[in-house]
Amino acid sequence: MAIICKAAIANGKGGFSVQDIVVNEPKDDEVLVKIKAAGLCHTDHDSLSWGKQLIIGHEGAGIVVSVGKNISSVLPGDKVILNWAMHCGKCFQCLEGNLHLCEVASPVAAGGNGYTPGHAGLEGTTFNGEPILRSFNIGTIAGYTLVKESAVVKNTSETMSFPAASIISCGVMTGYGSVVNAARLKAGSSAVVLGTGGVGLNVVQGAKVAGAEKIIAVDINPHRLETAVKFGATHTILAAKDDAGLLKAAEEVKKLTGGRGADYAFECTAIPELGAAPLAMVRNAGTAVQVSGIEQEITIDMRLFEWDKIYINPLYGKCRPQIDFPDIAQHYTSGHLLLEEMITRTYSINELDKAFDDMLKGRNAKGVIVFD
Ligand SMILES: [Zn+2]
Ligand SMILES: [Zn+2]
Repeated sequence: MAIICKAAIANGKGGFSVQDIVVNEPKDDEVLVKIKAAGLCHTDHDSLSWGKQLIIGHEGAGIVVSVGKNISSVLPGDKVILNWAMHCGKCFQCLEGNLHLCEVASPVAAGGNGYTPGHAGLEGTTFNGEPILRSFNIGTIAGYTLVKESAVVKNTSETMSFPAASIISCGVMTGYGSVVNAARLKAGSSAVVLGTGGVGLNVVQGAKVAGAEKIIAVDINPHRLETAVKFGATHTILAAKDDAGLLKAAEEVKKLTGGRGADYAFECTAIPELGAAPLAMVRNAGTAVQVSGIEQEITIDMRLFEWDKIYINPLYGKCRPQIDFPDIAQHYTSGHLLLEEMITRTYSINELDKAFDDMLKGRNAKGVIVFD
């Protein structure tokens, strides 16, 4: 039976409205999920201006309502975490093990934020009688969503709240995965984290879980550094605002690492001018990771690469949802990874305007939309 529910619909020109949509029963390869919580991030605000009408939201958690006959990994009643790194399992990148770069189903690597075969059948969700696209193929700021099987992962945690579960599928995965999957940080090593906002805190947590001995947090904001210590930073460096390229902070890092530089450095500032800063922090043959998604052109002093340094730019922490989400849930259960502490405020779908405003004004570490 079709369900009528509320959804936040972007108009493509920077605005949105909360409207009724109709969500149909799942097809053979689809899962119908009742959304309980959806994390909000800057990408959702960007998606208001993508030039097309779509249901916004790309992070979420909920409960399976019904499944198509080809679905085997989840059952009605299961608690699930939604994920936008859909994969086909058969293309070149999937066979290479890069599920997050699937050339067929990924809304980012294959779809440029448009429709891909990772999207449930378009006709299954309608607005004013017409099929409507969902952001990142899932559109989580809605009462219900129809998704393909690779977009859901069962959450077996007994204690995790839905808001906490909903933020795993974005900033938590990106930070944690950049450490564990992309850098493959070795236990006993040293790591520098540049910028300790939401994603940076999850890099700190990932480094802690992976067994880093020294986790050096660098920020220009002393309050953020205090928070970083709560999440596992062992040392902090308060950087000066006029420290171009963070070269002075890099000298401090050297002092803390036997004069050599850190084994790993993670850039989480989203400041284009700091795109090369992690290279300045690492030792010869160290690994620099760009986590924040800088896409601007910048000038780099090539000597920063000396010698034998590696610089990587992973997407979504090389997310393998069916492996990584249960691992993250387990670290949460054992108390090694904090989730509830990252959420500043929750809102109803009718307060979405305020949620965007609080996010844009920097009032929240993380805001989450909750549903009944
Ligand atoms: Zn694929
Ligand atoms: Zn996000």
